[in-house]
Amino acid sequence: MDPYETNVMFFMTKNINIIDITSVGALKILNRLITRRRNRDEIRLKRRLLTREYLLRLNRNLCDGCGLCAENCPREAINWNPPIVIDGCLTRKPAIDFDADSCIFCGVCATICPLDALSMEIDAEKIATIVKNKAFPVLSKEIKITKEKCKPGCEFICQQECPTGAIKCIYEKSGKETDTIDVQIDESLCIYCKRCEWSCPLRCFIGEEAFLRKSRI
Ligand code: SF4
Ligand code: SF4
Repeated sequence: MDPYETNVMFFMTKNINIIDITSVGALKILNRLITRRRNRDEIRLKRRLLTREYLLRLNRNLCDGCGLCAENCPREAINWNPPIVIDGCLTRKPAIDFDADSCIFCGVCATICPLDALSMEIDAEKIATIVKNKAFPVLSKEIKITKEKCKPGCEFICQQECPTGAIKCIYEKSGKETDTIDVQIDESLCIYCKRCEWSCPLRCFIGEEAFLRKSRI
């Protein structure tokens, strides 16, 4: 069974056999059962079914808009709004929003979020569907740095912004001049939140190849 097909799993109980409800019409009926609430601090999606209740919650204060959840959502149910950078200054942070009609409450996003901004509950228990079904996603990550672009005028903002201390800028001072010698990333500490990418005024960082290999049970 595909662990992401929660629309099928919703109807598995002791007394009811699996009912194939993956047709478009049936999905539309199910989606009418979703409620969406949004305020300044939070976005909530809730789906009530006969036997279960699913809740997906985004803490907007914790989210830094890295977009990992949107890249990995198997139903493209997360819209990512890119940052606005003017003259090297970040004027609007990137952010995400849900497409309630597409979400199947698989919980991939909640499992993969590096900042714990997303969480999922099944019948008030904090657990994601893919974790409950032992179908863990595998994230492969890579960050490229264009070191030649790096100029120390930014006061090593990437090193300051990194929440885990994974970035080390090595520099040399000669009189009033400061030269960057190297920018190193400790991959064992990197959580792929992409703050370095958004904060660097010279766009030295490009995070890529964040993808999911779907596990199956
Ligand atoms: S993965 Fe987490 S921090 Fe990144 S955009 Fe999604 S909710 Fe925000
Ligand atoms: S639970 Fe998250 S990853 Fe799964 S479909 Fe919904 S938004 Fe996408």
